[in-house]
Amino acid sequence: MVTVVNLTKEKADKAVCRPTIYGNPFVLSPSGPYGFRVLTREDAILRFAEYFYSESRRDLRQRALLEIPDGSTIGCHCDPLPCHAHIIAGYLNWKRNYKWEGPKAVTKIYA
Ligand SMILES: [Zn+2]
Repeated sequence: MVTVVNLTKEKADKAVCRPTIYGNPFVLSPSGPYGFRVLTREDAILRFAEYFYSESRRDLRQRALLEIPDGSTIGCHCDPLPCHAHIIAGYLNWKRNYKWEGPKAVTKIYA
């Protein structure tokens, strides 16, 4: 199972924050060159999910399956707040037939 860690607190096997190719192009902050501004964290995550699961990102999903092996950690700076890294982990774990268990924070927001 792939799990999400906070890069500020620990090392990850793979960073998925901006500016990596796995970074979320939808940003809360008005500063920075990386993407499209949205107003809420929930919106940034939902838009990332649409983007990540879209037909045009098939290559990115394929690459994630190859580059992020089962049992590894991926890191962003948000955890334990929900973020796009949980979408990526959820995808990989779903493809590898793990049951979706949460993070609790995401479950709470979208319940
Ligand atoms: Zn994040």
